[in-house]
Amino acid sequence: MSNYQYVNFLWDDAKAASLDPVGRLAYRSNILGSDQRITNTGGGNTSSKVIEKDPLTGESTEVLWVKGSGGDLRTSTRENFSSLYQEKLMNLQALYAAREDKGLKAPAEDDMVGMYTHATFNLNPRASSIDTPLHSFIPAKFVDHMHPNAIISLAASENCEKLTQEIFGGEMAYVPWMRPGFELGLAMQEIVRKNPKVKSIMMGQHGFISWDDDEISCYTYTLVCIE
Ligand SMILES: [Zn+2]
Repeated sequence: MSNYQYVNFLWDDAKAASLDPVGRLAYRSNILGSDQRITNTGGGNTSSKVIEKDPLTGESTEVLWVKGSGGDLRTSTRENFSSLYQEKLMNLQALYAAREDKGLKAPAEDDMVGMYTHATFNLNPRASSIDTPLHSFIPAKFVDHMHPNAIISLAASENCEKLTQEIFGGEMAYVPWMRPGFELGLAMQEIVRKNPKVKSIMMGQHGFISWDDDEISCYTYTLVCIE
């Protein structure tokens, strides 16, 4: 799709090509956040999984750069993103699974938030968002989580699940309202494991999340869903 009626396609190839991967993530975030139809001020977040040189070992390692706590996508710079070892975040699943007090809003879920700091890459001081596991556990390099007016009109409707199926034909899965956190991340991971063809997830009473292994395709698909 190249002509959009309800969103603006703002990606500039030349601009994007001049940036490093984290710069491109900030750029993607800025153009998404600049359109209030795509996300509200302070709402939504974005991420990229980037291969970086580990300062401790000199080896290549996968780093999740994800919009941190505070600030707004429209004006975010690289300082607004937290950076975490992707492998360490994934390993938290075993730690969490071993807890007896796990579950939505249970003590184990709250404790996981404090563990993100232990997964920090390169001493980045930016505090991680509670949405970090959503981005980490979705198996794609680029993930957008937005609160678009158009999507919220569905997310807030009584027949959200049925409408999502009708409109997106199974390409967009559905997850009922759940507080953002470890459990929601696990639920999303499970949805993708069961159906690898799913390209996005409607988040009941909240918004949606979409992804791709190509950055411009990730950005474009976010727009296409809203359009
Ligand atoms: Zn959200």
